[in-house]
Amino acid sequence: MSAYFHAAFFKSVARLEDLPDSEGEITFAGRSNAGKSSALNALAGQRLAFVSKTPGRTQLINFYRLGDGRFLTDLPGYGYARVPAAARADWEHLLGGYLQTRSALRGMALIMDVRHPLTELDRRMLAWFLPTGKPVHVLLTKADKLSRAAALDTLKRVERELAALGSKLTAQLFSSLKKSGLEQAEARFAAWLAAP
Ligand code: GDP
Repeated sequence: MSAYFHAAFFKSVARLEDLPDSEGEITFAGRSNAGKSSALNALAGQRLAFVSKTPGRTQLINFYRLGDGRFLTDLPGYGYARVPAAARADWEHLLGGYLQTRSALRGMALIMDVRHPLTELDRRMLAWFLPTGKPVHVLLTKADKLSRAAALDTLKRVERELAALGSKLTAQLFSSLKKSGLEQAEARFAAWLAAP
C-alpha cells in the first residue's frame, strides 16, 4: 500500500464558494452501500472520519487531504436518500458545479458492487460527468463475493459497456475485504494526480 494515499479529513463543503484551493483531486462516487467508504478506507490505509450517512442529511462533499496540496473527495452515496426537494436542488447545484467546472478535478473513481454493476443511477452519473472529457475508473468492489471466473466475466462485460460510452473509461476488480486490486487502483489514481 502506497503511503501517498494516506489521507486525513480536511473539510466538508456545502457551497461551491467553499471549495478549497487544490493542486489536483479525485472524486469518489457510487450507489449507497456499493462499498465506497470501505474502498476509500482501504486506499487511505486507515479509517477515515466519515460524516453520517443518514438519509435526508445535508449532502456534502467531503475532502480528504493527501500530500502536495492534493485531495480525495467523497460524494454522498446515491440511490436511497430521500432528500427534500429544496435540499435536492441545492445539492444538484453543488454537485453539478463541482463535477462540471472544478478544474482541479482529475477524474472520477466510480464504485460499483461487482454483483450489481452499471445501474441506471450509475449511468446517469456517467452521463453527467463524461462531457467533461475527464477519465473515469470503475472499481468493481466486493470481488471476493464472486468466484474468480464470475468476477472476470463481469469485468469483461463492464469493460465492453464502458468502451461504448467513451475512450477514457476503465475498470478493475477490487476487494476492500481482501485488499485486492489496491495496487492497480493506486497506480491509476497516482498517474491522474501526477499529470500536470
Ligand atoms: P458505502 O455505502 O458505499 O460507503 O458502502 P460501505 O463501504 O459502507 O459498505 C457497505 C457494506 O458492504 C458494508 O457492510 C461493508 O462491510 C461491505 N463491503 C464493502 N466492501 C466490501 C468488500 O470488498 N467485500 C465484502 N465482502 N464486503 C464489503
